[in-house]
Amino acid sequence: MQKNSILSSNKIVIKIGSSLLTNSRGGVNKTVLKNVVKDIVWLLKSNKNIIVVSSGAISLGRGKLNLKDNLTLNESQAVAARGQIELMTAWQNEFKKHKQQVAQILLSPSDIKNKRSSKNAIATIENLLAFNCVPIINENDTTSTDEIKFGDNDILAAQLASLVDANYLILLSNVDGLYKEPPKNNKNDDLVKEVKSITRKIRNMAGTANKLGKGGMISKVEAAEICMKSKCSVIITSGLKEKPIRSLSNKKTKATKFIAKS
Ligand code: GLU
Repeated sequence: MQKNSILSSNKIVIKIGSSLLTNSRGGVNKTVLKNVVKDIVWLLKSNKNIIVVSSGAISLGRGKLNLKDNLTLNESQAVAARGQIELMTAWQNEFKKHKQQVAQILLSPSDIKNKRSSKNAIATIENLLAFNCVPIINENDTTSTDEIKFGDNDILAAQLASLVDANYLILLSNVDGLYKEPPKNNKNDDLVKEVKSITRKIRNMAGTANKLGKGGMISKVEAAEICMKSKCSVIITSGLKEKPIRSLSNKKTKATKFIAKS
């Protein structure tokens, strides 16, 4: 087994972004959910500890409440409170098909910073894992304000991965990874396959991709930086594939791997 591979990891955090899990009508992308859950169940059967970080509350709440996307921060917080029920129901129903139990955890940035809160969060997560229950975590949008909002669950997922000593963070997105140049959908696309340290050049690549709206690549690179400091490797890949996680053992699968020094 390849050193530093997912299959040699004991604890894995998997983050699923809103744009991947929800569709333009504010509903759940059922195909993506089904494929991701199947792969997580496969990992669980291989005795891996899996922690899920899922976005999608605001997007699903907007759909249910029939609202447009020009919401204020406070409106988004209220919409997230509505959508979080839909988000967890969708995860629970899909996992139920595999007789797998799930639990919900909502965390604010201050919970991560505060020693006592973060200790309690770690204890809760560890106990859920011991109870064979998959923790599904989202930001606590109700109490997070503009200045302190994670803004994107990539950073929350990275901070969590460090806190729980995960070996891997998988960021499932609607892009294949980090590109040297903005992807043009042709075979010459220059996908970065491996990153061993995050240099200014890497950050600049993420910046370019971000400006062109190809996913929040900068926050993913920041997330990778947080994880690598804690010896946790990171993979960015598209969750639109049939086997988004299982396919990662195939070298031909498009992904960017940030390899932490062990
Ligand atoms: N907590 C937000 C949600 O669930 C995260 C938004 C995002 O990262 O896209 O909608």
